[in-house]
Amino acid sequence: MLEPLHTCNLACLGCSPERYNGELKDRLPLGECLKAIDESGAPVVSICGGEPTIYPELTELIEGTIARKRHIYLCTNGILLDRFFAKNTPTSGFRSTSISTAPPRRTISSSIVREFSRRRSR
Ligand code: SF4
Repeated sequence: MLEPLHTCNLACLGCSPERYNGELKDRLPLGECLKAIDESGAPVVSICGGEPTIYPELTELIEGTIARKRHIYLCTNGILLDRFFAKNTPTSGFRSTSISTAPPRRTISSSIVREFSRRRSR
């Protein structure tokens, strides 16, 4: 499990404040993240947080992880995925996204599911 930042766009009741109250400027540098991946030798890297789509270097982190032939689980609340994909083009090796949803309200979860159903039907 890699936690490059402890900043989040939500503050879920079941979460620890230290996981969402962090300042973005205190995030783990990209080089440190990739070094940790190299040192761990783990075949699967779960990129968590905080909210990973807020991490400004997420595209480079994904590409660096794939280049190391590791699988990725992106643990995101999904709310900012539109913003992320509007600015970033997934690499050819980025074949799937696993979305972990634990939002504070059922309506948020439902809206995420609706959005992905809409995109799949395009
Ligand atoms: S979305 Fe995840 S990291 Fe953010 S507050 Fe909720 S449980 Fe914590």
